[in-house]
Amino acid sequence: MSTRTIRQLVPAFEVTEGAGVTVHRSIGTPALKNLDPFLMLDHFGSDDPDEYIAGFPEHPHRGFITFTYMLDGHMEHRDSMGNRGDLKAGGAQWMKAASGVIHSEMPQQTDGLMRGFQLWINLPARDKLSEPAYQEFSAAAIPEVARDGARVRVLAGEFGGTRGVIDDPATDVLYLDVALAAGASFSLPLDDTRNGFVYVFEGSARLGGETLARHTLAVLGKGDQVEIEAGEAGSRFILVAGRPLGEPVVQYGPFVMNTREEIEQAFADYRDGRLVRARAAMTGH
Ligand code: FE
Repeated sequence: MSTRTIRQLVPAFEVTEGAGVTVHRSIGTPALKNLDPFLMLDHFGSDDPDEYIAGFPEHPHRGFITFTYMLDGHMEHRDSMGNRGDLKAGGAQWMKAASGVIHSEMPQQTDGLMRGFQLWINLPARDKLSEPAYQEFSAAAIPEVARDGARVRVLAGEFGGTRGVIDDPATDVLYLDVALAAGASFSLPLDDTRNGFVYVFEGSARLGGETLARHTLAVLGKGDQVEIEAGEAGSRFILVAGRPLGEPVVQYGPFVMNTREEIEQAFADYRDGRLVRARAAMTGH
């Protein structure tokens, strides 16, 4: 067994998204353009309504998956497939935009804490124009494993024999939310074929001889085992891994394809109302 060290430390920085929402971005920045198969990681978290109330009005996606995990708050999702989702604290949503989805994600609260993550997972070339799909699970549906000062919520993939709810066949994504009490430690076998990262959002954690502060993403180096220790005040982090695709990535805003021609096609399709296959009504936003 060899323990994974840190290949790169990426402090997240604040960007403004949607109609004026403040997020901490780590993947999808100049320091870390992407981490195959992951294209972007946004951490939203604020108790100031001015930083989230504008939400994410109708916008398109093509060529990848959006994975949203709500920690606190309430957001409503509507999309061109006709789905209407209520994302509440502890719930998760997996949306395969693939050939094209138009959706909105709007806060359903006017005050209080809104906190969560949005991760973009790339699709292999063969699936980029496949049929869009949608999975959503409430907090109660997501399995939790408690052991030795650790509480692990298994959103996708498998941990200690417990399988997560979200099935992501193309890149075999593992997505864990781990809370560690002060002094507790956590370990997990994670084979070398998968890229992975740890993002600390509460307290601090030690990994590979380094201390990870809040809002820091650590890209895992080679090895087949992950070992993490909580800092003095405990720690909460997400640990995410996936099989790299090894394909060219050409990204322009909400479209992620393999070539520039395919991006131009996406813009043309969006402009001409052909991005979405069969558009369902999206009332409300
Ligand atoms: Fe979106």
